Amino acid sequence: MSSPILNPEALERRTWHYIQSPAHFEVAACSCGNADTQWSEFRHHVWCDPCQKDFVPEHNGVFDGPIPIGVATMLGLNFDRFNMETGKVERLNHESAQYEDAAHV
Ligand SMILES: [Zn+2]
Repeated sequence: MSSPILNPEALERRTWHYIQSPAHFEVAACSCGNADTQWSEFRHHVWCDPCQKDFVPEHNGVFDGPIPIGVATMLGLNFDRFNMETGKVERLNHESAQYEDAAHV
């Protein structure tokens, strides 16, 4: 039996997270059934408050496929994000598909 390999990429710290919670993007719930998870401080992970644990969700909801931004916006999704390093909100420019400092919008 081989031992599990720690993937350093999986434990890379996030530098930003979406302002809307994982549930908005239909990211899979925790195995305990809690769907109201938060973005973990680690990339590819979400945080379950009742379980007090970071975990890799079973699927990533809308992020598993190509995302038509117009359609997603009509569904109430918002891809604006919070930059944890600068403490600033960055807005997604729907025409360029690039993030811009909210101050410049
Ligand atoms: Zn849980």
